[in-house]
Amino acid sequence: MKFGTKVIHAGIKPDPLSGAVMTPIYQTSTYVQNAPGDHKGYEYARGDNPTRNTLQANLAALENGKHAICYSSGLAAMDAVIRMLNPGDEVLSTNDLYGGSYRQLVRVHGRFGIKSTYVDMSKPSSIKKHIKKRTKLIWVETPTNPMLNIVDIKAICKIAKEKGVLVCVDNTFASPFLQNPLDLGADIVLHSCTKYLGGHSDVVMGAVVCNDEKLKDHFKFVQNAVGAVPGPQDCFLMLRGIKTLHIRVQRACENAAKIADFLKGHPKVNRVNYPGYKDHPNHKVAKKQMKMFGAMVSFDLKGDDFKQAKKVLSNTHYFLLAESLGGVESLIGHPASMTHASIPKEERMKVGLTDSLIRLSVGIEDVDDLMKDLKSALNKI
Ligand SMILES: *Cc1c(COP(=O)(O)O)cnc(C)c1O
Repeated sequence: MKFGTKVIHAGIKPDPLSGAVMTPIYQTSTYVQNAPGDHKGYEYARGDNPTRNTLQANLAALENGKHAICYSSGLAAMDAVIRMLNPGDEVLSTNDLYGGSYRQLVRVHGRFGIKSTYVDMSKPSSIKKHIKKRTKLIWVETPTNPMLNIVDIKAICKIAKEKGVLVCVDNTFASPFLQNPLDLGADIVLHSCTKYLGGHSDVVMGAVVCNDEKLKDHFKFVQNAVGAVPGPQDCFLMLRGIKTLHIRVQRACENAAKIADFLKGHPKVNRVNYPGYKDHPNHKVAKKQMKMFGAMVSFDLKGDDFKQAKKVLSNTHYFLLAESLGGVESLIGHPASMTHASIPKEERMKVGLTDSLIRLSVGIEDVDDLMKDLKSALNKI
């Protein structure tokens, strides 16, 4: 089955009771038993729910994996991954990690003895020296936020395999339409389904996908034992959102490419970060491991003045000033004061995250309107 068919059919069967074509919302907390232990496979809704199980089967197929397990948010999914580790174990991670993931590693798991180290993974061979005996998990994010750096998943997985270390790839920014890390050797794929998978900015949800039975048992155990489960209504909305994933992401990528070109030629723009450019440091890797170059673009302004950036951010009409990404509507954000405000300026500057850096999540509106919108906002400075 090809991707565009999978999003609509994989793991999804008409409802056996009524023939309903769309998976019903099984809004129930419990299931009747004929006699103690004699039931249809469903006992209590934290453990299993038919709407959720259908979504999980669909998600597994999208990532070419055997198993998917859903949680109530992307960060709850991450928590389930880190719970595989024991005190004293270490996670080796990308240095421009999503802020919420960094906060969880340091401030939640750090207290229980899980160590985390952050390194530049843009040259895979340079991570070798950081892998110690206690390193048990390599955490990859690619493309990264907000600099749109690219990490070579296949090369990292090869090194990890030699050392017997697991690899988890946060595939949120790419979506399964553009990139499938399990095919490149990763052990676990993580999604904040809140973003491209849901695609309509109306659900918060997370998922992990894997092939290994033991990993699956762990994830299923944590789903039930910790209980951060998504509700059936949200699972329904997610299934509905996924049906158009391929066309949404394709259009958003096409729009983003045009917007990146427009910005690149604009006299007030300094640098445009976009993996589709030949002069992007890992353009070749992006070309190899992604179907298209994604729909996230960031840029900063000549003179690097926060006040001028603020003018741009306050004067767009279609680009809404908001956190998050991956919805049908375009969003604009200012990492230095929003998502990355807790990072000291010197640290930010080291990775190129300047005061005037602006991040765009390009949606699927008409690209002419989007460009006009940015043009008029840039004219305000
Ligand atoms: C949003 C996001 C998360 C966290 O997901 P939530 O659903 O908000 O909990 C993790 N990683 C990346 C890359 C994200 O963009």
